[in-house]
Amino acid sequence: MNALISVSDKTGVVDLARGLHALGIGLLSTGGTARLLAEAGLPVTEVADHTGFPEMLDGRVKTLHPAIHGGLLARRDLPAHMAALATHGIATIDLLVVNLYPFEATVARADCTLEEAIENIDIGGPAMVRSAAKNWQDVAVLTDASQYAGVLAELRADGAVSRATRFALSVAAFNRIANYDAAISDHLSALQADGSRAEFPAQSNGRFVKLQDLRYGENPHQRAAFYRDLHPAPGSLVTATQHQGKELSYNNIADADAAWECVRSFDAAQDGPACVIVKHANPCGVALGEDAAAAYAKALKTDPTSAFGGIIAFNVAVDRAAAEAVSRQFLEVLIAPAYTDEARAVLAAKANVRVLEIPLDGVDPAGATPWARGRNAHDVKRVGSGLLIQSADEHVLAAADLKIVTARQPTPTQLADLLFAWKVAQYVKSNAIVFCGGGMTLGVGAGQMSRIDSARIAGIKAEHAGLSLQGSAVASDAFFPFRDGLDVVVDAGAAAVIQPGGSVRDAEVIAAADERGIVMALTGVRHFRH
Ligand code: 5GP
Repeated sequence: MNALISVSDKTGVVDLARGLHALGIGLLSTGGTARLLAEAGLPVTEVADHTGFPEMLDGRVKTLHPAIHGGLLARRDLPAHMAALATHGIATIDLLVVNLYPFEATVARADCTLEEAIENIDIGGPAMVRSAAKNWQDVAVLTDASQYAGVLAELRADGAVSRATRFALSVAAFNRIANYDAAISDHLSALQADGSRAEFPAQSNGRFVKLQDLRYGENPHQRAAFYRDLHPAPGSLVTATQHQGKELSYNNIADADAAWECVRSFDAAQDGPACVIVKHANPCGVALGEDAAAAYAKALKTDPTSAFGGIIAFNVAVDRAAAEAVSRQFLEVLIAPAYTDEARAVLAAKANVRVLEIPLDGVDPAGATPWARGRNAHDVKRVGSGLLIQSADEHVLAAADLKIVTARQPTPTQLADLLFAWKVAQYVKSNAIVFCGGGMTLGVGAGQMSRIDSARIAGIKAEHAGLSLQGSAVASDAFFPFRDGLDVVVDAGAAAVIQPGGSVRDAEVIAAADERGIVMALTGVRHFRH
């Protein structure tokens, strides 16, 4: 058995080598490491002597040689591989111990120059680690001093490293070089060729590509830029073409995304034309209609005051009638999958309006993966120096999943209104209470710390808009913890309620619904949105 040891951080390496030597394992090593082991009295062969090729270019080329990579990569179970090693006189390397040039520690120093950073990019180390990790069935690869004792103990006990350990070491090795490469890409991505830092570089981590610098962030004193995924999901906001209008602002983009994600959740073929008007990341009007203009007219009725300066999104092409209708109000952004030429001509007169087109072609709404459905697979939220990552909330409720828990059963119209209200509530910030009727929102209560306040606000908004809530359907994004919230929506006129259920007081809340003579449907799914 042969071990190759090549480490920058020499911690624990002499003890490890001593242990390996005691087990009869041959030691191969690069210059600095070999010197250290020799000083400790261990018999060690220098890689340069092993390959017959000297280390060169200030150590840039030490182990990049077929005698090393052949010994690491040959499959011991394939006679042809072993014959090739024999032909070329190459010995197998069964254990690899490598830690890399200290790139992370070097660039962490404030005075690190671009040249120093570049010199600390290890080339041969990661190459050997990859070779050994790929050939984990035959080679054990150690990339961290914390692994030494365990592997040595296994070798002493069993004379070999177990399959499970070799696999775990291989995964750890790939993770190590992935993190190493990420550190290199992070560091270099933030630099310009003269070594100075760019706050918003052209690429971020190589996984995001800059679309544009923004004039400012959420507020004028914040700086900002807009990036897209390297491989954006089809149909997502970042694939938009801007036909006209002022430059998009940070808030425009955030609100446009909220409007677009909500409106595209209505399938034009199944639900018909839909319109969503968003202000401050919340829908202030959502409606279905015969055509785009009719959907818009209904959506506007929910809250015409808030709609002023809003973002308007359609799930169908905007035609002349819809373009004329939206042009009568002050709007920041218009989004649709297509525009007729006539619509474009009408909108051209409103030169400031940002007109975005996002193709829905190629998006398969029934696709098995978020990618095929054109959805973003993950939501990411920054918290301090950490990240919260979750799969996107793209749950679609089927009518068959509803549980009607009251004596009163919904009419077909009520059922349609409940499902519509539920879909809208998914896109309203919590706590969300959404009154609907006739395929439109009647009152939206968003973002309150108490569900009762959201319910009250939704009622007040309907009243201000001159809309009646009598006989309406209402969705609550999470369960009613007490009956009081339910009483508020029923007092306001709701005749049917949709909510997740799951409260310890469900029985009390359902009894209240029966007492008030309304329909209650439980979804078993919650839609918090923060
Ligand atoms: P040593 O101190 O033994 O001379 O060097 C050990 C370091 O060299 C390890 O961090 C190892 O990853 C790195 N290394 C091994 N082979 C090569 C190579 O061919 N090129 C470069 N750039 N680094 C190597």
